[in-house]
Formats: sequence, C-alpha cells, structure tokens
Amino acid sequence: METIQYNLPQDRIPEAWYNIQADLPKPLAPPLHPGTLQPIGPDDLAPLFPMALIMQEVSQERDIEIPDPVRQVYAQWRPSPLFRARRLEKALDTPAKIYYKYEGVSPAGSHKPNTAVAQAYYNKMEGTKRLSTETGAGQWGSSLAMACAFFGLECKVYMVRVSYDQKPYRRALMEAFGASVTASPSIETESGRSILAQFPGTNGSLGIAISEAVEVAAKDPNTKYALGSVLNHVLLHQTVIGLETIEQMALAGDEPDVIVGCTGGGSNFAGLVFPYLGQKIKGQSHARVVAVEPAACPSLTKGHFAYDFGDTSHLTPLVKMHTLGSTFIPPGIHAGGLRYHGMAPLVSHVLDLGLVEATTVQQLDAFAAGIQFARAEGIIPAPEANHAVAGAIREALVAKEEGREKTILFNLCGHGHFDMQSYINYQAGLLENYEYPAEEIAMALAGLPAVG
Ligand SMILES: *Cc1c(COP(=O)(O)O)cnc(C)c1O
Repeated sequence: METIQYNLPQDRIPEAWYNIQADLPKPLAPPLHPGTLQPIGPDDLAPLFPMALIMQEVSQERDIEIPDPVRQVYAQWRPSPLFRARRLEKALDTPAKIYYKYEGVSPAGSHKPNTAVAQAYYNKMEGTKRLSTETGAGQWGSSLAMACAFFGLECKVYMVRVSYDQKPYRRALMEAFGASVTASPSIETESGRSILAQFPGTNGSLGIAISEAVEVAAKDPNTKYALGSVLNHVLLHQTVIGLETIEQMALAGDEPDVIVGCTGGGSNFAGLVFPYLGQKIKGQSHARVVAVEPAACPSLTKGHFAYDFGDTSHLTPLVKMHTLGSTFIPPGIHAGGLRYHGMAPLVSHVLDLGLVEATTVQQLDAFAAGIQFARAEGIIPAPEANHAVAGAIREALVAKEEGREKTILFNLCGHGHFDMQSYINYQAGLLENYEYPAEEIAMALAGLPAVG
C-alpha cells in the first residue's frame, strides 16, 4: 500500500517552541510607544499581557520550553497528521509530490488553539480573570473561548460585523464554550462608537475589533488582551507545526523544495516555515518559501514596510511591518481571517531579508482550488486555507509544465465546516473577485504615522 499519512506518537510533541529571533541575521525593529514614538519596555505592555508573554515577545533564546499543562492539552490533537496528497497529484497529473500538514484536527478546527491554549495558561498563572479579544471569521474567538474554558477564564469576543452576520455557527460555538460575543464595531466601547458615527453600517474590520478589545483590557485591571496572530509570541507558539513537520518529512524520506502557507496576520505561515527558515539560515535547507495572500488585502505584496498601528483607533504600539495603512477597511471577502491591514513584524522582516517570497490569489481562484482539493482529498479547507491550496496547486502545475519533479509542502491550516455558507455562495455563482483597492490603500498609506 502507498503511504499517505506520516504520524508521530504523542510523546513526540515538541518540548520547546522555536524562536527564530535567535537566528535572524539582522534583529527586528523595536515596537514604539503610540504617544511618545520611543521604543517601549516590558512595563508599557503589562496592562495588556501577562509578563511571561511579554518576555517571550522580546526573547532571543532559541528554544523556549513548552509548559507541561500546555503540552497536555496539545496531546488531544497533536502531533497533527502530515499527509501526502496522492489523489490530488493524480488529478493534477503533475510529477510533483504534494504534502500537507493538517491543523484542522484541533477541536476548534484550525491552528489557532496552539497559541490560545498557551496564552490562556500564562494568563491563568498570573491571576488574570478575563481575556478580551477580537475575531474575524471566528476561528480565533472559538479557539480562545475553548482555551478559556479549559483554564477557568472568562472570555469576551468582539467579532467583525460581516462575519458575525455571515457565520452564526462560529458565534454559537464560542457561546457554547462560554464566551460572550459582540458584533464589532459595537456601542460598548469608545472606539466602536466613534467608528459607527463615522461609518454607519460598516462591515467592520479586524483593526476596529482590536481597538475595542484592547480598550476593554486597558480599562479593567482584571482583564487582559489576547491576540490570535501578528505578535512574536503568537508566531512562536505556532512553531510546533513546523517542528513536527520536519520530523514527519524525515519519516517520509523527503525534503520540501517549496513550502507554501496563507498569510492573514502571518501565524500559521510562520508556524510551518520558521523552523525551516532556521535551517535555511544555517544552509541546511534549500526550500523556497511562499506566502499567499488575498488580492483584496495584499499587505505583503502591495503594502509599505513601515511603522504603523496594529488597530484602527491607534491604541496599540507601533510596529514595523508590511501594512496597507491602519485605516484601510478590506473588502468583505469570505476569508475573514485574511482581512487584516498589517502583517506580523517577523514575517515582514523575513520577507525584507529575502528569506521568503509573497504572491496573491483572487477569491474565485481560491475557492476553485479548495473545491478541487476537497474532491481529491475529502477535506473541505477553510476559505483562508484555500489560498495556500491555490498556491500549492500553482507550484504543482509549474512543475508539470517544466516536466520536473518537485516536492511541495503546504499548511492546511483549518477545515471549512463552519464556513459552508461561503461554499454555498461560491457554488451559486454569488462570489466575486475584488480588484486591488488601489485608491483606498493609497489613502490609508498617506495616513501612515511619521516615524524618523
Ligand atoms: C486565522 C486564520 C488564518 C489567518 O491567520 P494567520 O495568523 O495568518 O494564520 C488563516 N487560516 C485559518 C484557518 C485561520 O483560522
């Protein structure tokens, strides 16, 4: 029989996360205080995050130990499977080998619990009572709601309006885990009220929902804030994905020539690729690494690499990242998790260093790829993951054209079982491609903060 699954036993769950900051040829630019524009210290972040996470944010240590209670929760779905997509390879009639790491096996259906569990754990250890957060498609909100239920924390979620309306099942899932969910922008916060006054009937955006969640945490000493992507500690927690994959590819007796992931804030991409980039920096991997983003929200390919705010109301520190401008409100594409104006500073940095490449996919091409994948492999990808699938298929077709063998690895970061309305709309011909919103982006970029 041909092997299609490369599985590791439970005791091969990594014991430490991989911190790429230890191996970078050039260090990250420091985050800046939103008022003074001076580099911030750990104390500036203390109202929002527990100290353990703040220290991870700036740590230069290569291996950061995963606490036992976190590994114990991971053990419910980790190590996650690595599959060889043999039927997809046949359907594409390509000489390429295609592997995918499947993060949809977590209870919430995506990679997000890898960091949600760690964040809930460290908050619990430091006495936090409640976590506030934002969610786009609802993947992050449901992951954090689950993690809060495990560790006995309350959970308050601001859900981007367009997803709140399009994805009622995700909201139901968060509420089943005990979270309180509000559509964003809301009248509960100053940030929300101000946006509603300016843009009544807005779809909302991640940038706005972040402002609301941060405001709530800043004002309540018992509440801290949790972010599901972008920050260094979030990307760090996701590296269990790549660390396991390196072992699983060894089981398969293969090495990737190209590694593909979709990028919203950059965490699932970083989770798979950073351990490989660590090897690449040391000359031990030759893999090309490709980030795939939606054409409607192209921060890596069309954004500026500059200091910007993480949120719309300018409550967060400034970080240096690829950004479309913090006031840019992306079109309401179904891949809600990819509708963010910025990109993780670490992912922006490795792009700037030339360690990775970036490309875009249109919404209709992403869904076409997802359907083709589902018919071959039996898994319905999340709309976000469809961008990675499309990127991997593109690479496989290039291999076919060139008549060359090639090993492709991609991150299937979540399933789409809660996103079936978007598949219904796609099959009914109701989805559209969005032109690159050049004018709106130019306007938002014109408002970038002036930092020396
Ligand atoms: C949240 C999410 C994304 C986008 O976030 P990243 O930080 O870029 O990974 C992508 N895919 C899925 C399934 C998600 O839930």
